[in-house]
Amino acid sequence: MTAPTVAGSDVDEGEGEDGAVLLSVENLRTTFYTDKETIRAVDGVSFDLRAGETIGIVGESGSGKSVTARSVMGLVESPGRVESESSIEYRGRELTTNTEKEWQQIRGGDIAMVFQDPMTSLNPVYTVGNQIKEALRLHQNLKGQAATEEAVELLQAVGIPDATRRLKEYPHQFSGGMRQRAVIAMALACDPSVLICDEPTTALDVTIQAQILELLEELKEERGLAIMFITHDMGVIAEVADRVNVMYAGEFVESAPVEGLFENPKHPYTQGLLRSIPGNNVGSERLETIEGEVPTPNEEATYCRFAPRCPEEFAECDHVHPESVPVGDEDVHHTAKCLLYPEDLPKAGRIGKHEQRSGDEGGDRS
Ligand code: ADP
Ligand code: MG
Repeated sequence: MTAPTVAGSDVDEGEGEDGAVLLSVENLRTTFYTDKETIRAVDGVSFDLRAGETIGIVGESGSGKSVTARSVMGLVESPGRVESESSIEYRGRELTTNTEKEWQQIRGGDIAMVFQDPMTSLNPVYTVGNQIKEALRLHQNLKGQAATEEAVELLQAVGIPDATRRLKEYPHQFSGGMRQRAVIAMALACDPSVLICDEPTTALDVTIQAQILELLEELKEERGLAIMFITHDMGVIAEVADRVNVMYAGEFVESAPVEGLFENPKHPYTQGLLRSIPGNNVGSERLETIEGEVPTPNEEATYCRFAPRCPEEFAECDHVHPESVPVGDEDVHHTAKCLLYPEDLPKAGRIGKHEQRSGDEGGDRS
């Protein structure tokens, strides 16, 4: 695709910053205290996000992906709560203790989010141009002609042709793909370092989806953005992510660089997700799906939450919680939470290792 490159001084080259850890999430726990039950929507998740990198979070609906994103944006509302042992650091600064005003500053200039439905971010009664210019006024204090010029540049940067004219149009005059591009332009108006995309292409047809994914890749490279990309679609994750975290019922059950995950998936859940990609199970007529659905994580994880659906399940899966253990080359940092690993240990040794780690409260980072 041919989205024009951005010219101008506003472009953050990300030079020298590439690889710097921007976001460091450690033992994130987000719980919803409803009248009926306590839902551990995010249950001890850890990851780092570096400049110039895209990390993916993939898993079926209900696995806790959006709650993870909302937690990082400071957008968890009652009856939800980010538990006090959680840590979310942005450039070394703890965010979980932020006041609402401090969160607004973070959302205004450091971390921006793109949602599945562009209309949740766009107001139908204002022109696209006015909305981008409003974002520029709020977040970069740009007004008048300067704001208009910057808005044109942003639309060009996200591959919207005839930008000057399109600024004067309303969201309903844009196609679905163009609307999502406009939302990405609005997110960029904050000049963020971190962009969180929660199923941004799920509502789009595959051709448009591919174009948006390519756009995100270009923006990552040109601006040194760090992207957290959320989807239920393994095919999409393969396209965009550098590192992948597979999420199930509030936990990251496998984490690996994208090649490692696809070439050598270790967790039975990951293996199941891969079998359900169209074209991946040659010879079989129907697409394999994992039977059953993601359970609501409404009790403490003292067992494997995937066990009831797992083809490899054995007795211990019911009462030993699998901890994150290395499952491949140490240097590529491939980990999984499954009692089948580490593979080189006999069963008793493996179980003992997971039991001991549970005792240590030792979730290591992915
Ligand atoms: P995903 O984005 O992976 O589809 P979510 O992060 O939206 O999943 O949801 C994870 C879990 O958190 C689900 O069990 C869901 O029911 C629960 N949850 C999310 N938001 C709320 C809420 N506002 N109140 C109660 N439970 C919630
Ligand atoms: Mg979601």
